[in-house]
Amino acid sequence: MPHNFERFKLQPFLINGLEQDGITLPTEIQERIIPSVLKGEDVIGRSKTGTGKTLAFMLPLLSKLDPEKTETQVIITAPTRELAGQLYDVLTTYSAQSPAPITTQLIVGGTDRLRMIDKVKQQPHVIVGTPGRILDMMREYAIQPATVQSFVVDEADQMLDMGFLEDVDTIASLMDEDLQMLVFSATLPEKLQPFLKKYLNQPKHVDVQPKV
Ligand code: ADP
Ligand code: MG
Repeated sequence: MPHNFERFKLQPFLINGLEQDGITLPTEIQERIIPSVLKGEDVIGRSKTGTGKTLAFMLPLLSKLDPEKTETQVIITAPTRELAGQLYDVLTTYSAQSPAPITTQLIVGGTDRLRMIDKVKQQPHVIVGTPGRILDMMREYAIQPATVQSFVVDEADQMLDMGFLEDVDTIASLMDEDLQMLVFSATLPEKLQPFLKKYLNQPKHVDVQPKV
């Protein structure tokens, strides 16, 4: 019998969320990544689009989060507003089920910057945004990098193609050295390697290739 999500020991509110979404069985990448993220390991996850990478990091990060602390604990970055918005939708769907409120903030360009600075200064538990705006919020001292436990770089190959890797590198350089870093991508081009070597500490490589 295939495994369900119960055995990962995720917080019950996340299991409820999965039930409401009609999701019962983990995909291969979820199966292999959720335990590592829960343990605090660095991860490089490669699999093609549509294989369930979002929940592979979102579920364990939300499960580990401490809602009693008013601190930004997780930052997730994606290359475009649209992708960040999609991640934010998944985040809010699942975080809304938490018995202790989990606060979230989407930070992308094209929105009122001063209002955003105010909101980010309130230390939302989870921030999702595009690299440029996240860096902007760090330079404004709105984001407190010292409290951040986990940093997710989604669609890393697109970050590279769109010229955002430099911003992502600067963001990572401003965070604590013991930060958990998770990098997801459909492909892992050679040009990403220097970044991965610089910031990931004994990462677990999870490579899910389509069966031919
Ligand atoms: P990726 O980031 O790998 O491209 P997503 O995380 O965006 O993939 O997931 C693609 C779709 O699959 C989403 O609609 C999501 O709700 C759905 N999905 C994710 N995990 C599962 C699962 N375990 N079972 C069924 N559907 C899932
Ligand atoms: Mg994705």
